[in-house]
Amino acid sequence: MKYNYSMMINGQAVAGDKASFTVTNPATAAALAECPAASLEQLDMAVDVAEKAFITWQKTSHEDRKAMLHKIADKIEEHAAELAGIITSEQGKPQALAQMEVGGAVAWTRYTADLEIPVEVIEDSPHKRIELHRKPLGVVGSILPWNWPLMIAVWHIMPALRSGNTIVVKPSSMTPFNTMRLIELINEVVPAGVANIVTGEGGLGRAMSGHGKIRKIVFTGSTPTGQNIMRNAADNLKRLTLELGGNDAAIVLPGTDVKAIAQGIFQTAFLNMGQTCAALKRLYVHESLYDELSQELIAIAQQQIVGDGAVSGVTFGPVQNKDQYDLVSELIADAKANGGVVHPSAAVPAGAGYFIAPTIITHVTDGMRVVDEEQFGPVLPVIKYSDVDDAIARANASQNGLGGSVWGADINQAQAVASQLECGTAWINGHAEVLPYAPFGGCKMSGFGVEFGLEGLLEYTVPQLLNINR
Ligand code: NAD
Repeated sequence: MKYNYSMMINGQAVAGDKASFTVTNPATAAALAECPAASLEQLDMAVDVAEKAFITWQKTSHEDRKAMLHKIADKIEEHAAELAGIITSEQGKPQALAQMEVGGAVAWTRYTADLEIPVEVIEDSPHKRIELHRKPLGVVGSILPWNWPLMIAVWHIMPALRSGNTIVVKPSSMTPFNTMRLIELINEVVPAGVANIVTGEGGLGRAMSGHGKIRKIVFTGSTPTGQNIMRNAADNLKRLTLELGGNDAAIVLPGTDVKAIAQGIFQTAFLNMGQTCAALKRLYVHESLYDELSQELIAIAQQQIVGDGAVSGVTFGPVQNKDQYDLVSELIADAKANGGVVHPSAAVPAGAGYFIAPTIITHVTDGMRVVDEEQFGPVLPVIKYSDVDDAIARANASQNGLGGSVWGADINQAQAVASQLECGTAWINGHAEVLPYAPFGGCKMSGFGVEFGLEGLLEYTVPQLLNINR
């Protein structure tokens, strides 16, 4: 597989002006390849060409932009195996999950292509007509994380382009190559300057969020970085969509069929090795089911095949990077030191890769780091409760508010509990499910703004009222 991807500015492959940086394969901890690094002047160049391209791109018809997005989806489909291969080698997830990520990228691209941007008629009387139109903003800056690098890039790029904006993308320096390849494919379809990519480390993102010609930042990443972006964005009042961290709680109600829910809980807690913003991260289980559900989860964890995601049969890959590996290891050790019971799990391969088997910890309480902090990794604290109202209060006792869930046989009771959760999405008998047509976003410190559906698309527009006196 080739790993000499370039940045793309104005439809041209561009070498970085700064010294390159190394991208690591998390399954081996060995260098995968060097990635170019942009200077701040190169970022300015990318923004300038995007601003110039915006002049004509915003005037292309909805039909044309729709058709171009479908062509992009075709290209992603044609290169699905290649893209999935890149994702596994730099992100770590098993091949099947990487293929699912590419499939998601296609589905989101097609759904976004077909969205219609409405003109709302506010008044239509003999002497007056008032129409609410939605206009694109200009140059959008996209700053990406490393967990679902291709799919989240698509979540940022497609609504921006569909609504008539141009874009400058900065992927995480941990996982840049899949997004560089995606931008190459997009540039086979759209005019030069419409979709650009610069790569580099933290300073580039900071410069983008403070950039005077970027009209909006769409950011997916951690809460502290989101706060920095918001501070930097103030000077030109950038529009912001901030999809930030989560520490999602789930409540299992008494009377639930444990065998029926155990797989669903495991899969949504350990999705992408737990490195998913809206993964289930704190599990509150009624005391009557606590031992039984814990045992089921431990058994499923022990069945996983942990290893290099590129190897067939592997179901559970490495943590993406050394810092995250150290953090998760620290949280597990802290729970153990404070009375948590860390249960034996699947075997991890020897070698330097960042492997942590899916880890169930029981006999934990609120106040322990593994419960109170976003782990963003393969560990699940199982917490006992006896009173449902108390469980709701504990679930809500978090600064985060991304997702939450309630698991139970009585849907009405589950719904009554779910509606009391302070979060952007409350699932019942499920968790972490995102869909192209269902707006998704967080409350409290998990950010603001939504992605997906028409509501998500309109975040890339500014309203303009036409007030016509006739
Ligand atoms: P991160 O905040 O460390 O980095 C994200 C991106 O921001 C990277 O591209 C990084 O280079 C850039 N960056 C770093 N400092 C910056 C600054 N000062 N200004 C601008 N950009 C800067 O996040 P991460 O570790 O890559 O991702 C993990 C986090 O993302 C978790 O907290 C997770 O919950 C969150 N996340 C949220 C969602 C969601 O939809 N809410 C989805 C995925 C991930």
